[in-house]
Amino acid sequence: MIESRYYGEFGGAFIPEILVATFDQLVQEFKTAKNDPGFWDEYVRIMSTYSCRPTPLTFAENLTNYFKGPRIYIKREDLNHTGAHKANNVIGQGLLVKRMGKTRVIAETGAGQHGVATATMAAKFGFRCTIYMGEVDMARQRPNVFWMERLGAEVVPVKEGTRILKDAINEAFRDWATNMDNTHYVLGTACGPHPFPEMVSFFQSIIGKEARKQILETEGRLPTRVYACVGGGSNALGIFSGFFDDPVELVGAEAGGKGLDTGLHASRLASKDGFRGVAQGYKTYFLQNQDGQMKKTHSVAAGLDYVGVSPILASLREQGRVRFEAATDREVMDAFSLTLRKEGLVPALESTHAFAQAFKEISGLSGKDIILINQSGRGDKDIFTIADAFEDPAWRQFIIEKAEEYRA
Ligand SMILES: *Cc1c(COP(=O)(O)O)cnc(C)c1O
Repeated sequence: MIESRYYGEFGGAFIPEILVATFDQLVQEFKTAKNDPGFWDEYVRIMSTYSCRPTPLTFAENLTNYFKGPRIYIKREDLNHTGAHKANNVIGQGLLVKRMGKTRVIAETGAGQHGVATATMAAKFGFRCTIYMGEVDMARQRPNVFWMERLGAEVVPVKEGTRILKDAINEAFRDWATNMDNTHYVLGTACGPHPFPEMVSFFQSIIGKEARKQILETEGRLPTRVYACVGGGSNALGIFSGFFDDPVELVGAEAGGKGLDTGLHASRLASKDGFRGVAQGYKTYFLQNQDGQMKKTHSVAAGLDYVGVSPILASLREQGRVRFEAATDREVMDAFSLTLRKEGLVPALESTHAFAQAFKEISGLSGKDIILINQSGRGDKDIFTIADAFEDPAWRQFIIEKAEEYRA
Protein backbone atom coordinates (compact mmCIF):
# COMPACT_ATOMS: atom_id res chain seq x y z
CA MET A 1 0.00 0.00 0.00
CA ILE A 2 1.49 3.30 -1.00
CA GLU A 3 1.76 6.06 1.56
CA SER A 4 0.04 9.20 0.46
CA ARG A 5 -0.24 12.64 1.91
CA TYR A 6 -2.92 15.25 1.51
CA TYR A 7 -2.94 18.96 2.26
CA GLY A 8 -6.61 19.55 2.90
CA GLU A 9 -8.19 18.00 -0.18
CA PHE A 10 -5.08 18.55 -2.32
CA GLY A 11 -2.07 16.38 -3.03
CA GLY A 12 -2.13 12.59 -2.98
CA ALA A 13 -0.18 10.16 -5.12
CA PHE A 14 -1.98 9.00 -8.25
CA ILE A 15 0.68 6.77 -9.77
CA PRO A 16 0.79 3.68 -11.98
CA GLU A 17 0.91 0.33 -10.16
CA ILE A 18 4.38 -0.39 -11.54
CA LEU A 19 5.91 2.59 -9.70
CA VAL A 20 4.47 1.80 -6.27
CA ALA A 21 7.59 0.01 -4.98
CA THR A 22 9.84 2.84 -6.20
CA PHE A 23 7.69 5.47 -4.49
CA ASP A 24 7.66 3.38 -1.31
CA GLN A 25 11.44 3.27 -1.27
CA LEU A 26 11.63 7.02 -1.85
CA VAL A 27 9.09 7.79 0.89
CA GLN A 28 10.97 5.62 3.40
CA GLU A 29 14.40 6.95 2.45
CA PHE A 30 13.20 10.55 2.65
CA LYS A 31 11.56 9.95 6.01
CA THR A 32 14.75 8.45 7.46
CA ALA A 33 16.89 11.25 6.02
CA LYS A 34 14.52 13.95 7.26
CA ASN A 35 14.69 12.61 10.82
CA ASP A 36 18.48 12.33 10.71
CA PRO A 37 20.08 15.63 11.83
CA GLY A 38 23.32 14.47 10.21
CA PHE A 39 21.61 14.49 6.81
CA TRP A 40 20.56 18.14 7.11
CA ASP A 41 24.06 19.08 8.33
CA GLU A 42 25.62 17.35 5.33
CA TYR A 43 23.14 19.16 3.06
CA VAL A 44 24.02 22.55 4.57
CA ARG A 45 27.74 21.76 4.33
CA ILE A 46 27.50 21.01 0.59
CA MET A 47 25.26 24.00 -0.07
CA SER A 48 27.69 26.34 1.67
CA THR A 49 30.80 25.04 -0.09
CA TYR A 50 29.37 24.30 -3.56
CA SER A 51 26.54 26.83 -3.84
CA CYS A 52 26.45 30.12 -1.94
CA ARG A 53 24.70 29.43 1.32
CA PRO A 54 23.73 31.18 3.38
CA THR A 55 22.68 33.55 0.61
CA PRO A 56 22.78 37.18 1.79
CA LEU A 57 19.87 39.38 2.72
CA THR A 58 20.30 42.70 0.89
CA PHE A 59 18.84 45.95 2.18
CA ALA A 60 17.46 47.74 -0.91
CA GLU A 61 18.30 51.22 0.33
CA ASN A 62 17.72 53.04 -2.96
CA LEU A 63 14.35 51.43 -3.62
CA THR A 64 13.38 52.16 -0.01
CA ASN A 65 14.26 55.86 -0.50
CA TYR A 66 12.54 55.94 -3.87
CA PHE A 67 9.19 54.67 -2.55
CA LYS A 68 9.51 56.51 0.81
CA GLY A 69 7.60 53.64 2.40
CA PRO A 70 8.57 50.37 4.04
CA ARG A 71 12.13 49.14 4.40
CA ILE A 72 12.74 46.70 1.53
CA TYR A 73 14.91 43.61 1.95
CA ILE A 74 15.81 41.10 -0.75
CA LYS A 75 16.75 37.45 -0.17
CA ARG A 76 19.43 36.64 -2.72
CA GLU A 77 18.69 33.18 -4.10
CA ASP A 78 20.13 34.44 -7.41
CA LEU A 79 23.58 33.91 -5.89
CA ASN A 80 23.17 30.14 -5.83
CA HIS A 81 25.25 28.03 -8.21
CA THR A 82 23.47 27.87 -11.61
CA GLY A 83 21.72 31.11 -10.70
CA ALA A 84 18.58 30.18 -8.81
CA HIS A 85 17.00 28.40 -5.85
CA LYS A 86 16.73 25.26 -8.01
CA ALA A 87 20.18 24.25 -6.73
CA ASN A 88 18.69 23.76 -3.23
CA ASN A 89 16.33 21.10 -4.53
CA VAL A 90 18.58 19.19 -6.93
CA ILE A 91 21.52 18.95 -4.51
CA GLY A 92 19.16 17.73 -1.76
CA GLN A 93 17.68 15.06 -4.03
CA GLY A 94 21.20 14.15 -5.19
CA LEU A 95 22.14 13.32 -1.60
CA LEU A 96 19.05 11.10 -1.33
CA VAL A 97 20.03 9.32 -4.57
CA LYS A 98 23.42 8.55 -3.02
CA ARG A 99 21.71 7.12 0.07
CA MET A 100 19.49 4.92 -2.12
CA GLY A 101 22.55 3.66 -3.99
CA LYS A 102 21.16 4.66 -7.37
CA THR A 103 23.46 5.75 -10.21
CA ARG A 104 21.26 7.51 -12.75
CA VAL A 105 18.98 10.56 -12.62
CA ILE A 106 16.32 11.74 -15.03
CA ALA A 107 14.36 14.98 -15.14
CA GLU A 108 11.99 16.84 -17.36
CA THR A 109 12.39 20.51 -18.09
CA GLY A 110 10.37 23.19 -19.85
CA ALA A 111 12.39 26.38 -19.74
CA GLY A 112 15.57 24.36 -19.26
CA GLN A 113 16.69 25.83 -15.92
CA HIS A 114 15.81 22.69 -13.96
CA GLY A 115 17.55 20.59 -16.62
CA VAL A 116 20.75 22.60 -16.24
CA ALA A 117 20.58 22.37 -12.43
CA THR A 118 20.01 18.59 -12.57
CA ALA A 119 22.80 18.03 -15.11
CA THR A 120 25.11 20.09 -12.88
CA MET A 121 24.24 18.01 -9.81
CA ALA A 122 24.74 14.78 -11.83
CA ALA A 123 28.19 15.95 -12.94
CA LYS A 124 29.16 16.75 -9.35
CA PHE A 125 27.89 13.45 -7.89
CA GLY A 126 28.95 11.25 -10.83
CA PHE A 127 25.45 10.12 -11.88
CA ARG A 128 24.39 9.38 -15.44
CA CYS A 129 21.75 11.89 -16.49
CA THR A 130 18.93 12.01 -19.03
CA ILE A 131 16.78 15.10 -19.50
CA TYR A 132 13.43 14.98 -21.29
CA MET A 133 12.40 18.12 -23.10
CA GLY A 134 9.58 18.85 -25.53
CA GLU A 135 10.88 19.39 -29.05
CA VAL A 136 9.27 22.85 -29.14
CA ASP A 137 10.93 23.84 -25.83
CA MET A 138 14.29 22.53 -27.05
CA ALA A 139 14.16 24.81 -30.05
CA ARG A 140 13.20 27.79 -27.84
CA GLN A 141 15.82 27.16 -25.14
CA ARG A 142 18.95 26.29 -27.08
CA PRO A 143 21.40 27.94 -24.63
CA ASN A 144 20.17 25.70 -21.80
CA VAL A 145 20.25 22.60 -24.04
CA PHE A 146 23.81 23.55 -24.95
CA TRP A 147 24.86 23.60 -21.27
CA MET A 148 23.05 20.37 -20.36
CA GLU A 149 24.89 18.55 -23.15
CA ARG A 150 28.25 20.10 -22.27
CA LEU A 151 27.65 18.95 -18.67
CA GLY A 152 27.37 15.39 -19.97
CA ALA A 153 23.61 14.90 -19.91
CA GLU A 154 21.68 13.26 -22.70
CA VAL A 155 18.85 15.58 -23.76
CA VAL A 156 15.98 13.64 -25.34
CA PRO A 157 13.57 15.59 -27.56
CA VAL A 158 9.96 14.61 -26.88
CA LYS A 159 7.98 14.48 -30.12
CA GLU A 160 4.65 13.32 -28.63
CA GLY A 161 1.58 15.49 -28.16
CA THR A 162 2.12 19.23 -28.17
CA ARG A 163 5.89 18.69 -27.63
CA ILE A 164 6.11 20.84 -24.49
CA LEU A 165 6.58 20.34 -20.74
CA LYS A 166 3.55 18.13 -20.02
CA ASP A 167 4.60 15.69 -22.75
CA ALA A 168 8.12 15.60 -21.33
CA ILE A 169 6.63 14.74 -17.90
CA ASN A 170 4.88 11.70 -19.42
CA GLU A 171 8.12 10.52 -21.02
CA ALA A 172 10.05 10.92 -17.77
CA PHE A 173 7.50 8.75 -15.93
CA ARG A 174 7.73 6.14 -18.69
CA ASP A 175 11.52 6.03 -18.36
CA TRP A 176 11.25 5.76 -14.57
CA ALA A 177 8.85 2.83 -14.78
CA THR A 178 11.35 0.99 -17.01
CA ASN A 179 14.55 1.84 -15.11
CA MET A 180 13.47 2.29 -11.51
CA ASP A 181 16.15 -0.08 -10.12
CA ASN A 182 19.00 2.33 -10.79
CA THR A 183 17.17 5.57 -11.62
CA HIS A 184 15.71 8.47 -9.61
CA TYR A 185 13.36 11.05 -11.12
CA VAL A 186 14.43 14.51 -9.93
CA LEU A 187 11.19 16.48 -9.92
CA GLY A 188 11.85 20.21 -10.16
CA THR A 189 9.18 21.85 -8.03
CA ALA A 190 6.83 21.25 -5.10
CA CYS A 191 4.26 19.49 -7.33
CA GLY A 192 3.57 15.94 -8.48
CA PRO A 193 2.71 12.90 -6.38
CA HIS A 194 3.71 12.50 -2.72
CA PRO A 195 6.48 12.66 -1.50
CA PHE A 196 7.66 15.30 -4.00
CA PRO A 197 5.74 18.34 -2.71
CA GLU A 198 6.90 17.63 0.85
CA MET A 199 10.44 16.69 -0.18
CA VAL A 200 11.08 19.65 -2.48
CA SER A 201 9.69 22.13 0.05
CA PHE A 202 11.80 20.50 2.79
CA PHE A 203 14.98 21.28 0.85
CA GLN A 204 13.76 24.76 -0.12
CA SER A 205 12.91 25.54 3.51
CA ILE A 206 16.58 26.48 3.89
CA ILE A 207 15.63 29.83 2.30
CA GLY A 208 13.06 30.71 4.97
CA LYS A 209 15.17 29.42 7.87
CA GLU A 210 18.04 31.68 6.84
CA ALA A 211 15.85 34.67 5.96
CA ARG A 212 14.02 34.69 9.29
CA LYS A 213 17.29 34.57 11.22
CA GLN A 214 18.86 37.25 9.02
CA ILE A 215 16.01 39.76 9.30
CA LEU A 216 15.91 39.30 13.08
CA GLU A 217 19.67 39.87 13.27
CA THR A 218 19.48 42.95 11.04
CA GLU A 219 16.23 44.63 12.13
CA GLY A 220 15.43 42.91 15.41
CA ARG A 221 11.89 42.27 14.20
CA LEU A 222 9.91 40.35 11.62
CA PRO A 223 8.82 41.66 8.22
CA THR A 224 5.25 42.85 7.68
CA ARG A 225 4.99 40.96 4.41
CA VAL A 226 6.96 38.40 2.41
CA TYR A 227 6.66 38.23 -1.39
CA ALA A 228 7.62 35.36 -3.69
CA CYS A 229 6.78 34.43 -7.27
CA VAL A 230 4.80 31.24 -7.85
CA GLY A 231 5.43 28.83 -10.73
CA GLY A 232 5.19 25.35 -9.28
CA GLY A 233 5.59 26.96 -5.88
CA SER A 234 8.95 25.77 -4.57
CA ASN A 235 10.76 29.07 -3.96
CA ALA A 236 7.58 30.53 -2.43
CA LEU A 237 7.15 27.60 -0.03
CA GLY A 238 10.85 27.80 0.73
CA ILE A 239 10.75 31.37 1.99
CA PHE A 240 7.17 31.31 3.35
CA SER A 241 7.82 28.26 5.54
CA GLY A 242 10.21 30.30 7.67
CA PHE A 243 7.28 32.52 8.69
CA PHE A 244 4.28 30.16 8.91
CA ASP A 245 4.03 30.52 12.69
CA ASP A 246 4.57 34.29 12.70
CA PRO A 247 2.14 37.19 12.29
CA VAL A 248 3.57 37.86 8.82
CA GLU A 249 1.51 38.30 5.67
CA LEU A 250 2.58 35.96 2.86
CA VAL A 251 1.94 36.98 -0.75
CA GLY A 252 2.40 34.74 -3.80
CA ALA A 253 2.76 36.44 -7.19
CA GLU A 254 1.62 34.44 -10.20
CA ALA A 255 2.13 35.17 -13.88
CA GLY A 256 -0.58 37.60 -14.98
CA GLY A 257 0.71 37.46 -18.59
CA LYS A 258 -1.24 39.82 -20.82
CA GLY A 259 -3.89 40.28 -18.10
CA LEU A 260 -6.21 37.97 -16.18
CA ASP A 261 -9.18 38.86 -18.38
CA THR A 262 -7.37 37.90 -21.61
CA GLY A 263 -6.96 34.18 -20.94
CA LEU A 264 -3.26 34.66 -21.74
CA HIS A 265 -1.71 34.09 -18.31
CA ALA A 266 -0.56 31.31 -15.99
CA SER A 267 -2.51 32.23 -12.86
CA ARG A 268 -4.10 29.19 -11.25
CA LEU A 269 -4.90 30.65 -7.85
CA ALA A 270 -5.42 34.40 -8.35
CA SER A 271 -7.56 34.12 -11.51
CA LYS A 272 -10.97 32.54 -12.02
CA ASP A 273 -9.56 30.16 -14.64
CA GLY A 274 -8.11 27.57 -12.26
CA PHE A 275 -10.19 24.48 -11.42
CA ARG A 276 -9.64 21.60 -9.03
CA GLY A 277 -8.60 18.40 -10.72
CA VAL A 278 -6.30 15.40 -10.73
CA ALA A 279 -3.50 15.29 -13.29
CA GLN A 280 0.19 14.44 -13.45
CA GLY A 281 -0.19 12.30 -10.33
CA TYR A 282 -1.72 14.77 -7.86
CA LYS A 283 -4.74 16.93 -7.06
CA THR A 284 -4.56 20.68 -7.22
CA TYR A 285 -5.87 23.69 -9.15
CA PHE A 286 -5.10 23.40 -12.87
CA LEU A 287 -5.69 25.81 -15.71
CA GLN A 288 -8.18 23.63 -17.52
CA ASN A 289 -11.54 23.88 -19.21
CA GLN A 290 -14.80 22.16 -18.19
CA ASP A 291 -13.74 18.88 -19.89
CA GLY A 292 -10.47 18.75 -17.98
CA GLN A 293 -8.52 19.77 -21.08
CA MET A 294 -5.41 21.76 -20.05
CA LYS A 295 -5.34 25.34 -21.28
CA LYS A 296 -2.52 27.11 -23.06
CA THR A 297 -0.59 29.31 -20.65
CA HIS A 298 1.39 32.45 -21.24
CA SER A 299 4.03 34.40 -19.35
CA VAL A 300 7.03 36.52 -20.19
CA ALA A 301 8.81 34.29 -17.63
CA ALA A 302 9.17 30.73 -18.95
CA GLY A 303 9.62 29.34 -15.42
CA LEU A 304 6.16 30.47 -14.27
CA ASP A 305 4.38 29.07 -17.29
CA TYR A 306 2.90 25.90 -15.76
CA VAL A 307 -0.72 24.64 -15.66
CA GLY A 308 -0.60 23.22 -12.11
CA VAL A 309 0.57 24.53 -8.75
CA SER A 310 1.82 23.00 -5.51
CA PRO A 311 -0.97 21.23 -3.58
CA ILE A 312 0.54 22.74 -0.42
CA LEU A 313 -0.06 26.25 -1.78
CA ALA A 314 -3.57 25.31 -2.95
CA SER A 315 -4.32 24.28 0.61
CA LEU A 316 -2.70 27.38 2.15
CA ARG A 317 -4.93 29.48 -0.06
CA GLU A 318 -8.07 27.64 1.14
CA GLN A 319 -6.90 28.30 4.72
CA GLY A 320 -6.39 31.98 3.92
CA ARG A 321 -2.76 31.75 5.08
CA VAL A 322 -1.26 32.87 1.77
CA ARG A 323 -2.72 35.59 -0.46
CA PHE A 324 -2.32 35.12 -4.22
CA GLU A 325 -2.06 37.92 -6.76
CA ALA A 326 -0.90 38.19 -10.35
CA ALA A 327 1.55 40.62 -11.98
CA THR A 328 1.31 41.23 -15.72
CA ASP A 329 4.18 41.02 -18.21
CA ARG A 330 4.05 44.79 -18.50
CA GLU A 331 4.23 45.39 -14.75
CA VAL A 332 7.10 42.93 -14.59
CA MET A 333 9.16 44.72 -17.24
CA ASP A 334 8.66 48.05 -15.41
CA ALA A 335 9.66 46.54 -12.07
CA PHE A 336 12.67 44.94 -13.74
CA SER A 337 13.96 48.27 -15.09
CA LEU A 338 13.41 50.00 -11.78
CA THR A 339 15.24 47.31 -9.77
CA LEU A 340 18.12 47.22 -12.22
CA ARG A 341 18.58 51.01 -12.27
CA LYS A 342 18.06 51.64 -8.56
CA GLU A 343 19.87 48.66 -7.05
CA GLY A 344 22.06 47.17 -9.78
CA LEU A 345 20.28 43.88 -9.18
CA VAL A 346 19.27 41.68 -12.13
CA PRO A 347 16.35 39.53 -10.99
CA ALA A 348 15.12 36.69 -13.21
CA LEU A 349 11.83 37.60 -14.91
CA GLU A 350 10.20 34.93 -12.73
CA SER A 351 11.45 36.61 -9.54
CA THR A 352 10.52 40.04 -10.89
CA HIS A 353 6.85 39.08 -10.48
CA ALA A 354 7.41 39.23 -6.72
CA PHE A 355 9.05 42.66 -7.02
CA ALA A 356 6.24 43.95 -9.26
CA GLN A 357 3.53 42.80 -6.85
CA ALA A 358 5.38 44.32 -3.89
CA PHE A 359 5.79 47.66 -5.70
CA LYS A 360 2.08 47.75 -6.65
CA GLU A 361 1.05 47.40 -3.00
CA ILE A 362 3.72 49.56 -1.44
CA SER A 363 1.65 52.73 -0.96
CA GLY A 364 -0.47 50.94 1.65
CA LEU A 365 2.53 50.54 3.95
CA SER A 366 4.48 52.99 6.11
CA GLY A 367 8.10 53.57 7.13
CA LYS A 368 7.48 51.35 10.14
CA ASP A 369 6.88 48.34 7.90
CA ILE A 370 9.42 45.92 6.49
CA ILE A 371 8.91 43.90 3.34
CA LEU A 372 10.96 40.93 2.25
CA ILE A 373 11.15 39.90 -1.42
CA ASN A 374 12.57 36.59 -2.57
CA GLN A 375 14.86 37.05 -5.57
CA SER A 376 14.56 33.42 -6.68
CA GLY A 377 17.08 33.72 -9.51
CA ARG A 378 19.21 35.95 -11.66
CA GLY A 379 18.11 37.39 -14.99
CA ASP A 380 21.20 36.87 -17.14
CA LYS A 381 19.42 33.93 -18.80
CA ASP A 382 16.62 36.30 -19.90
CA ILE A 383 18.84 38.50 -22.07
CA PHE A 384 17.01 37.51 -25.29
CA THR A 385 13.54 38.26 -23.89
CA ILE A 386 14.62 41.48 -22.18
CA ALA A 387 16.48 42.81 -25.22
CA ASP A 388 13.36 42.12 -27.33
CA ALA A 389 11.08 43.83 -24.82
CA PHE A 390 13.26 46.95 -24.79
CA GLU A 391 13.62 46.76 -28.59
CA ASP A 392 17.37 47.28 -28.29
CA PRO A 393 18.55 48.01 -31.86
CA ALA A 394 22.24 47.27 -31.24
CA TRP A 395 21.39 43.87 -29.78
CA ARG A 396 19.24 43.07 -32.79
CA GLN A 397 22.09 44.02 -35.11
CA PHE A 398 24.45 41.79 -33.11
CA ILE A 399 22.15 38.76 -33.51
CA ILE A 400 21.76 39.39 -37.24
CA GLU A 401 25.51 39.66 -37.72
CA LYS A 402 26.09 36.48 -35.73
CA ALA A 403 23.56 34.64 -37.89
CA GLU A 404 25.23 35.93 -41.06
CA GLU A 405 28.62 34.75 -39.78
CA TYR A 406 27.23 31.22 -39.41
CA ARG A 407 25.53 31.29 -42.79
CA ALA A 408 28.78 32.30 -44.55
C1 LIG B 1 12.02 27.74 -11.99
C2 LIG B 1 12.01 29.07 -11.42
C3 LIG B 1 10.88 29.59 -10.73
C4 LIG B 1 9.58 28.84 -10.62
O1 LIG B 1 9.62 27.70 -9.84
P1 LIG B 1 8.99 27.63 -8.38
O2 LIG B 1 8.93 26.16 -8.12
O3 LIG B 1 7.65 28.27 -8.40
O4 LIG B 1 9.91 28.33 -7.46
C5 LIG B 1 10.97 30.83 -10.15
N1 LIG B 1 12.09 31.58 -10.25
C6 LIG B 1 13.18 31.14 -10.92
C7 LIG B 1 14.37 32.02 -11.01
C8 LIG B 1 13.17 29.89 -11.53
O5 LIG B 1 14.26 29.47 -12.20
